[in-house]
Amino acid sequence: MNERDGDNSIIEYMLDLLRIEESGKFLLADLSDSERENLSVAFRIKNFIDEIPGGFLIYYADGDEKIVYANKALIKIFKCDSFADFKAHTHNSFKGIVHPDDLDGVEQSISKQIESSMDNLDYVEYRIIPKDGIVRWVEDYGHFVHRESAGDFYYVFISDATEKVTRRMVETATLINDRKEKEKQLLSLTEEYDKERKLIRQEHLRRLEVIEGLSVNYDSILYADLDNNKVLPYRLSVRLERQFEKKLQVRELAWFLDDYVKTWVHPDDRKYVAEQTSIEHIRKTLANSPTYYLNYRCIYKKETQYIQLRIVNVGGNDGVSQVVMGYRNVDEEVMREMKRKQILEVALNNAKIAEVAKNTFLSNMSHDMRTPLNAVYGYAALARKNIDDRTAVLDALDKIETASTCMLDLVEKVLEFTYLESKEHALDEEEFNVCELVNEEHATAVRMGESKRLTVELHSSVAHENVYGDKQKLQQILHNIINNAVKYTPAGGRIDISIDENKTETSEFSTYKFTVKDTGIGIDKDSIPRIFEPFERMYNTTHGGIYGAGLGLTITKNLVDHLGGEITCDSELDKGSTFTVALSLKIIKTDKQSQACDIDASDVKILVVEDNELNMEIETEILEEQGFTVDTAINGKIAVDKIASAKPDEYSLVLMDIQMPVMDGRTAAKAIRALDDPELANIPIIALSANAFESDKRASIEAGMNAHLTKPIDVPVLLDAIKSTLAEVKKNQ
Ligand code: ADP
Repeated sequence: MNERDGDNSIIEYMLDLLRIEESGKFLLADLSDSERENLSVAFRIKNFIDEIPGGFLIYYADGDEKIVYANKALIKIFKCDSFADFKAHTHNSFKGIVHPDDLDGVEQSISKQIESSMDNLDYVEYRIIPKDGIVRWVEDYGHFVHRESAGDFYYVFISDATEKVTRRMVETATLINDRKEKEKQLLSLTEEYDKERKLIRQEHLRRLEVIEGLSVNYDSILYADLDNNKVLPYRLSVRLERQFEKKLQVRELAWFLDDYVKTWVHPDDRKYVAEQTSIEHIRKTLANSPTYYLNYRCIYKKETQYIQLRIVNVGGNDGVSQVVMGYRNVDEEVMREMKRKQILEVALNNAKIAEVAKNTFLSNMSHDMRTPLNAVYGYAALARKNIDDRTAVLDALDKIETASTCMLDLVEKVLEFTYLESKEHALDEEEFNVCELVNEEHATAVRMGESKRLTVELHSSVAHENVYGDKQKLQQILHNIINNAVKYTPAGGRIDISIDENKTETSEFSTYKFTVKDTGIGIDKDSIPRIFEPFERMYNTTHGGIYGAGLGLTITKNLVDHLGGEITCDSELDKGSTFTVALSLKIIKTDKQSQACDIDASDVKILVVEDNELNMEIETEILEEQGFTVDTAINGKIAVDKIASAKPDEYSLVLMDIQMPVMDGRTAAKAIRALDDPELANIPIIALSANAFESDKRASIEAGMNAHLTKPIDVPVLLDAIKSTLAEVKKNQ
């Protein structure tokens, strides 16, 4: 035995001791004192280890892993009676200690741990099969020891870990169970969440479809947040793309509302739309009802469009903030409805005005009739009383005459008005001198104004005095206006009557402007549009003290309309009034010299279209006399056929009557203009009509004719027109 020191020496003493015990050579006498001492220590340690409560094992690391030592506690763990019994049970090897199923894993784990451990330590758990056959768990703290003298071996502390492991296993199982349970819960939650998400998605899609469905009629849909002053488009019309620059981007709501009104809304509706779409108004209105709408007009590409804007509260009930605004072009029905409403409103208003006017008229009439009637009665009685006083009687008779004239005028006006109202009346045209007519009216005005010391002046600027028209009606028009001027101008005032002619070249008509300007009481701005209405008077007789039925201007306007003219009034209260009548009258040229032009009549073939035989004869004669070649057609249809089948250049011009059987002149002109051959289609056509109104002239020009002349034929005018039309055509060729 050698001297030993260090930690492992005790184990080595023990090994020596065990070896000695095993070999049976145990002679103390052979040992030195120190050896004996060491042996005794080893012996005491062995006894101590034998008695410790935990298992202790020493076995060789190599070969069969032969067991060197097992203490009592370990032998007991294996339910063996003795070390010998233990060795037999384990076949004297560490391999016999470990449960066969765990052995490979345990040995691998041990060698791995030893390799990586600085202190050559390892820890394993494994099952054992004790002698009673009941499997148990142990834990094994091993230590690998290498000794040159004794070889490699392990010494190991082994203790029963069945309870610990079982507990841990139970815990692990519980944990696993818990985890599984949690996983299950999570899974079901996830499933539920998925289901819900699917439902939400479906609901979302459904809502989108509903929105699409409901909003199909809306060109633009915007979502607005009033609290945050934001607006977000959902769909945009071309119009609104301007405000959002074609992108679905968020804008400031207040800016958008303002810009929309300024850019698109019709000027007359701007105030209304701005009020109805102000953020405060939206809030206030939607607080009481979930939705409201407004109809208004927009101007888009210079056209008026009727728009309906619907505003819907889509947020909760507590405070209005989220709203949807839908814009759409109002369909025809609503548009018709709006128009119908407008018409009804106007009609109602008119009915109300007419009712008021009629009542005023009746009370005026009874007053206006009674005043002269009273005068008649009064002066008649006075005359009777003073029958012998010639001067007094004559004076009374004068007064009676004046009063009677007033009454007659009143009755006449009422009758005339009723007559004008009740039927269309024809024009009675004749040749007359327009300046003479105005002169006469001027003279009357001077006479009428004498008693009030009125200054009545006449101004005239006319190139063509002789005209063709309804003299009587024009006289009546001027008479009524001048009469009013005298009537409504206080003493010392002034009246200016003027006539101006505005001649348009190439036309046989001139526009004559008759103006009557007074320095009278004037008419307030609001009343001006109404003075042409029947029975309208600014002051009734009782207040104004001026006699009148309120029919004069109505009759005047009626007459002006009938002559195709226009009447306007410009007036200022207390300053005076100006009444202007503009009329187009056919002029009669006294200068019969027709304009020189280099058209050779013998080259010109004219187609005269006329159903009246006599007229046809006259026209043919006039034209042939001038050297023209004439062909004729007795209605529009024949004329169209003749032109359509003519050679180009065959006819130079068509003289077209308007009213004809089979096909009238305008239809014929349109048909000629629609011919395929451009040369034939563009043949000059001059209308010859009995109708002299501006509207007739316009209709002829609109039908494609070059000029419109009126009958009876004024030869120089006709020749002039033919020549200037041909010259024009020649110039354009
Ligand atoms: P009246 O018989 O009452 O004169 P009119 O139809 O001729 O009826 O005129 C209608 C109303 O227009 C008059 O009552 C008067 O208030 C106003 N009026 C017409 N002419 C003039 C004028 N020259 N100056 C001021 N007021 C006028």
